[in-house]
Amino acid sequence: MSLYSLKMRASKNTDGQSEHISGAEKILQEKELSANMEALLMRALHHAKGEADFVNMKIEALQPDELEYIEALPVSTIPVETAAEGRQIILNYLKKLGLENGKEIMLKFRETYPMRGAMLLDATSLERLEPDTNRGLRATYMDAEHAAGSNPSNCKNHFQEALVLASKVVHAPHILAEICISDDPDYVTGYIAAKDIGYVRITKLKEPGSGDGGRIFLYRGPKDRISACIHYLEQQHVLVQHVPTSIKMQTNVPDSWSIIREQLAVKKREHLYRKMTELSSAQADHVICQGRDHLLLASNNYLGLIEHPKVKQAAKAAIDRYGCGSGGSRLTTGTLPLHRRLEMKLADFHQTEAALLFNTGYMANVGILSALGQKGMIIFSDELNHASIIDGCRLSRAKTVIYRHNDMEDLQKKIAACAPCQGMIVSDAVFSMEGDIANLPVILEISRKYHLLTMVDEAHSLGVIGQSGHGICEYFRLQEKPDILMGTLSKSLASEGGYACGSQLLIEYLQNAARSFIFSTSQSPAVLASAEMALEILRESPELVGRLQKNRQVFCEALSSAGIAASSRTAIIPVVIGDEQTAVEIGKKLASNGILVSAIRYPTVPKGTARLRIAISAAHKPDELIRAAKTMAKIIKQRQR
Ligand SMILES: *Cc1c(COP(=O)(O)O)cnc(C)c1O
Repeated sequence: MSLYSLKMRASKNTDGQSEHISGAEKILQEKELSANMEALLMRALHHAKGEADFVNMKIEALQPDELEYIEALPVSTIPVETAAEGRQIILNYLKKLGLENGKEIMLKFRETYPMRGAMLLDATSLERLEPDTNRGLRATYMDAEHAAGSNPSNCKNHFQEALVLASKVVHAPHILAEICISDDPDYVTGYIAAKDIGYVRITKLKEPGSGDGGRIFLYRGPKDRISACIHYLEQQHVLVQHVPTSIKMQTNVPDSWSIIREQLAVKKREHLYRKMTELSSAQADHVICQGRDHLLLASNNYLGLIEHPKVKQAAKAAIDRYGCGSGGSRLTTGTLPLHRRLEMKLADFHQTEAALLFNTGYMANVGILSALGQKGMIIFSDELNHASIIDGCRLSRAKTVIYRHNDMEDLQKKIAACAPCQGMIVSDAVFSMEGDIANLPVILEISRKYHLLTMVDEAHSLGVIGQSGHGICEYFRLQEKPDILMGTLSKSLASEGGYACGSQLLIEYLQNAARSFIFSTSQSPAVLASAEMALEILRESPELVGRLQKNRQVFCEALSSAGIAASSRTAIIPVVIGDEQTAVEIGKKLASNGILVSAIRYPTVPKGTARLRIAISAAHKPDELIRAAKTMAKIIKQRQR
């Protein structure tokens, strides 16, 4: 999808002098250009400041890879009675940012009054850094994402435009903050913006009727980076995401939100803030992200079934027959033949007496563990178990004892210290962030010895390990099974939902006691039918598992021979980087090279063990995996030097 920058500038002639009356810029898709040009033209021709007799419109094509996406700053408003109070608040914020010379900075505002652009001010030395001190700097080439898709309007949304500008400015290298006072005589509100404090509106910064206003960009960084900063402000194309259309009246007076805001700020400072990546195509081996094609090495779609025609067809047929929602919980009106049939097929697949569906794998773990973990019992849980197991333990009345990751000696020792006791051992079959396999034969042996139940979570083993993808029991060729096999339909099976497989007694009990099963509307027809079809495909085509395993091997070998140690027997290959910021930066760099990999950080993994988590699928092409491994190795080595 091509994007274009559209800029409009309008002026009129007053006494032989050209006087600016209106300006605007947008980043748009081709089909939106003409309507927006018309709207801007109307704005220029019929402006409150007068009718334009010179209108300049400029359209430039943008390359998608020149475009940077950033998040809009969070907005808050501080109401004040007087301009003096408002200015004091700015001084307080400057102090928070480590600047004791706030008063001197505010005095510099006078010099900005005659300027059209902003002042670039060295926050420490108060030296002016903009090359043209008469004109000042203009931050340009930016727009709100999706503003484009909305109806073009010839009204200016001052708030949105200011927020877009401030969000871009504070993302420029070494910009500490922006302070803005409007030069519009009717508009007394201004703001201070910084990455750490967000966009803080202050309701009064000057007296009404005064045209004294301007902008200061505060720079704190090395001299040789000033030009990079200016280049970013003037040239970098930026789309700002999640820009609110109007101001919610929030205040900054300490309230319950201030704790929440502070916690978000801490996450940002520690590089633990999380954002969503939006993919605008079906989840195949390649996906479209931010308008560009990427090789996806991050999906749990291990067998590539998300796009399988039979799976899609099954979902469509189920909708045609049963409609969309399920209309109730399983125990009221929400049970369809589709639920029953899938449960029977899952029980058959895992060779257990019965099965029970849950809406997600998360809900399955929470439901099973909270229902089974009674008062007086002990749950022995691997330290690297999935968060849904941890939450299930927390919700249960049982005591939880954590044992060292896959350390059978530690497990045995900890159980012996409590014996005799009632309870269970619970473990991921394949660990979601390590990609290693639980030592199930020994876990079963220990549980027999101490008369404990065992539960394994097959989220990442189903369709991945065992000759025909049946999971951990097949992998170890076990005759005996854990008491509770839990799994999800959302990974290899390309749909949504979780399940428990086990004895009739277990399933009957869960049906009557697992609250996440009882108190939630059941899965909808399309989801059930697609999971059922994916399970059929896995049964009929075990060669998919072979292809996945081959791909895994090809990738590990390629990465290792390029100098980055990598080994795994599952679809998950972790490359531990350590430092959170470096891991995130490597992830970004890979993305800019067309490779999407998840950078995983605390709390998903312990602090200081941030990593790239590479996920392989049967749908990948071996030669592409080899190329990606080489690129990845090069980027990791560059960063770690
Ligand atoms: C993904 C996952 C879950 C949760 O399954 P969802 O269906 O995504 O809710 C549970 N356990 C493990 C080990 C997982 O990786």
